[in-house]
Amino acid sequence: MSELRMVPGKPCRLCRKRVWLEEGQTFCPHCTGKIEKLYAYPCRKCGNPASDCECSGNKWLKFLFWYDCPTARTYINRLKNDPRDYEVEFLGTELAKKCTGRYDAVTFVPRDPAARKVHGSDHAELLAHAVAEALGLPVVATLECRGVIIQKFLSASQREKLVRGRFAVLDEALRDHRRLLLVDDVSTTGATLRGTSRLLREHGAEAVACAAMCKTQENYR
Ligand SMILES: [Zn+2]
Ligand SMILES: [Zn+2]
Repeated sequence: MSELRMVPGKPCRLCRKRVWLEEGQTFCPHCTGKIEKLYAYPCRKCGNPASDCECSGNKWLKFLFWYDCPTARTYINRLKNDPRDYEVEFLGTELAKKCTGRYDAVTFVPRDPAARKVHGSDHAELLAHAVAEALGLPVVATLECRGVIIQKFLSASQREKLVRGRFAVLDEALRDHRRLLLVDDVSTTGATLRGTSRLLREHGAEAVACAAMCKTQENYR
């Protein structure tokens, strides 16, 4: 028996089944169609996929997928509850391709301490590490989450104001890293990313670019 036949296949980056993938292939044939649909999922306003959305409200953010597509939500749930290295690496590498600015470091929006304890990891931090790895940059923790606030029924501006109470800036980390790429998993109203990036600029960051794996469309419920 040849050595080659003993080697197990690589896991598909969506269904996680071990299959024989050719070099450079990431998905099994069944999942390839699902991924094509995910990338092509249209914006309800301009009709374009996430990569080409022309809506002015979305231009400030680099993001991969529309959260509205069920496959995007599968990825988010796994990142939160059952992350796998190879999947996080795939998502981080894809997101890094969109982040073409000049940054000194990658940072992230931390989850609240109680949730971190329950899950044992911070999904935004995991994603930030994968993005940083792909870009050849360090990861620095610049924000500390003080606690969780139920935001569901609040407007974007109310949420943005609350950011000041929820997050503290770790000034030491900012000293050597002035241009930051701030990573989160999902952006809904954009209030958390906008609020935290403003907070970082107030504490001395020169520039803060925002990136998220998914963005919800305006009328998503
Ligand atoms: Zn698959
Ligand atoms: Zn659009």
